[in-house]
Amino acid sequence: MLSDFRFLDEAGPAKVVQIHEPAAGLKAFVVIDNVAAGPSIGGLRMGLEVSAEECFRLARAMTFKNAVAGLPHGGGKSVLVGDPGMADAEKERLIRAFACAARDLKDYIVGPDMGTNERCMAWVHDEIGRAVGLPAVLGGIPLDEIGATGFGLATAIDVAQEFCDVRLDGARIAVQGFGAVGKHAARFLVEKDAILVAASDSHGMVANADGLDVQALIDHKAGGENLASFPGGSGERDAILDVDCDIWIPAARPDVLTEDNVGRLKARMVAQGANIPATPGAESALHQRGVLVLPDFAANAGGVICASVEHHGGNCTLAMQSIEEKLTDNTRTVLQHARDAGTPPRQAALEIAEARVREAMALRRWG
Ligand code: NAD
Repeated sequence: MLSDFRFLDEAGPAKVVQIHEPAAGLKAFVVIDNVAAGPSIGGLRMGLEVSAEECFRLARAMTFKNAVAGLPHGGGKSVLVGDPGMADAEKERLIRAFACAARDLKDYIVGPDMGTNERCMAWVHDEIGRAVGLPAVLGGIPLDEIGATGFGLATAIDVAQEFCDVRLDGARIAVQGFGAVGKHAARFLVEKDAILVAASDSHGMVANADGLDVQALIDHKAGGENLASFPGGSGERDAILDVDCDIWIPAARPDVLTEDNVGRLKARMVAQGANIPATPGAESALHQRGVLVLPDFAANAGGVICASVEHHGGNCTLAMQSIEEKLTDNTRTVLQHARDAGTPPRQAALEIAEARVREAMALRRWG
């Protein structure tokens, strides 16, 4: 895997560990990328199709996300081969075995990711005392319940008003993916006087140019229903792309905006809640049209900021304060840099992240 050093550069990875314990049925991979700013934080992803390559990429993405968020943490990631839907007892055994194998990787703090949740983090913590995203009873902050990422996204959008002609007061917002990120982003934006004109989930979409009742949508979904069955809803989930709105918020899946469909968007701002929701071609088309795009790894950092506060012993209130402070400062820094340099915000955010990583490396014994 490392024979061509494709994934190795001066910034990392610091450690790459393959774990293979056939007797335990354990196959996993851990990449600790750059740890100049502090121990790495990154999710444990469980799935049947996970790969080492994915792990390298996600670890580097976490280095940049943590750096642009201004956290004292580097980036890391781990992948564990297995069906996340396996019987609970079997999953517990496997995750505990993974934790024990990662015991000595002290510069890696394990967090939840696809296929793992707070119960899994409790098992990891029980074995090695090093995990974030824990259940509240173990000092965890329920980030999806409090809406950490949605709150951070709403904060970033608030700051972005200074850099475009969209005003939150009366802004029409459309949210693709009314889940943990999307519903809370909508809730916090409506508190700032925006109007939710459309929302979608994997089943359908509901739209109303006069504004939707966010709490009624949240209650409807909490009752096990989906948006297609909400009064006025339809099964046309992708019609969210055509909605007349000022701010479009992807909060569902990767690659939903492509060069083929990006022309349908009418918004003047796209605030990326989901990870990599747009292909590079789609993002560049938006930039050329003058649409302000808030890039995922800078705008959706609320969750990892919350995890960092949890790791350092903070509570919910401190987490929200920290998210607001960091997203305000960092969004302003990124958008100002983009304006000054005439680059897309994603490039500006990457340059800032890289500069911060280099600055931290210069303060450490490196090279
Ligand atoms: P979630 O499962 O709670 O919600 C996802 C929502 O998207 C669901 O309502 C689902 O029905 C909907 N959806 C799925 N496919 C869709 C489609 N094609 N069209 C419309 N809706 C669709 O997940 P989440 O935690 O809200 O995460 C959403 C995205 O944000 C993911 O890309 C995730 O990686 C990213 N993210 C989440 C966090 C976090 O704190 N939860 C942090 C950073 C990034």
